[in-house]
Amino acid sequence: NGFEDVHLGERLNENIKRCNYVKPTPIQRHAIPIVMAGRDLMACAQTGSGKTAAFCFPVISGILKKNRYSQSQPRYAQTACPSALILSPTRELAGQIHDEAKKFAYQTGLKIVAAYGGASISNQFRNLERGVDILVATPGRLVDMIERGRVSLRLIKYLALDEADRMLDMGFEPQIRKIVEQMDMPPPGTRQTMLFSATFPSDIQSLASDFLSNYIFLAV
Ligand code: AMP
Repeated sequence: NGFEDVHLGERLNENIKRCNYVKPTPIQRHAIPIVMAGRDLMACAQTGSGKTAAFCFPVISGILKKNRYSQSQPRYAQTACPSALILSPTRELAGQIHDEAKKFAYQTGLKIVAAYGGASISNQFRNLERGVDILVATPGRLVDMIERGRVSLRLIKYLALDEADRMLDMGFEPQIRKIVEQMDMPPPGTRQTMLFSATFPSDIQSLASDFLSNYIFLAV
């Protein structure tokens, strides 16, 4: 019934305990095994359901097991190549996800960087230069960074879109599509995608069919 059953790894399990998470929430109980099994996921979940951990735990666990690049990248690399991308509609939410992910990844050596608008881009570039495993970004700022050649998505293994319905309401669909296109360069089929939304209207359904492959639908 706890988090130990899904083999997230010893370090992550310790960090989960330190966060005082004793029992998974319903979204966590169902989503984490699906993502750990390598499947794409469409999840309908509200704010406060514990969805941040639902996508962070399997991503952190998976990167620790096999997709860690930040330490093999040259220090002060000009172009950052994260293994995971978490897209969020607002700087506030991106900041919260970044802070939570850092707690979950405590003492793992994983590098987590936030990139959002309304804050100094040169500070964010400086953070990226030190290496990044997990990038938490808002769509507009990320497109800017990609166009400036400072971020490459060619090594992305995990993509999570949080509050996708809010991102569409805010008009971010063109940016989101541009971002996902960057990941569709060869070799294809190596990316795992998680789409989170409070609702499942037709525009979210088409994002799901365009971005996810053979996905599992979960509503909690
Ligand atoms: P979220 O929906 O991800 O924004 O999470 C809502 C709040 O619940 C956050 O403050 C989390 O730290 C907390 N939380 C998430 N999962 C758990 C859990 N399994 N046990 C206790 N608190 C949790």
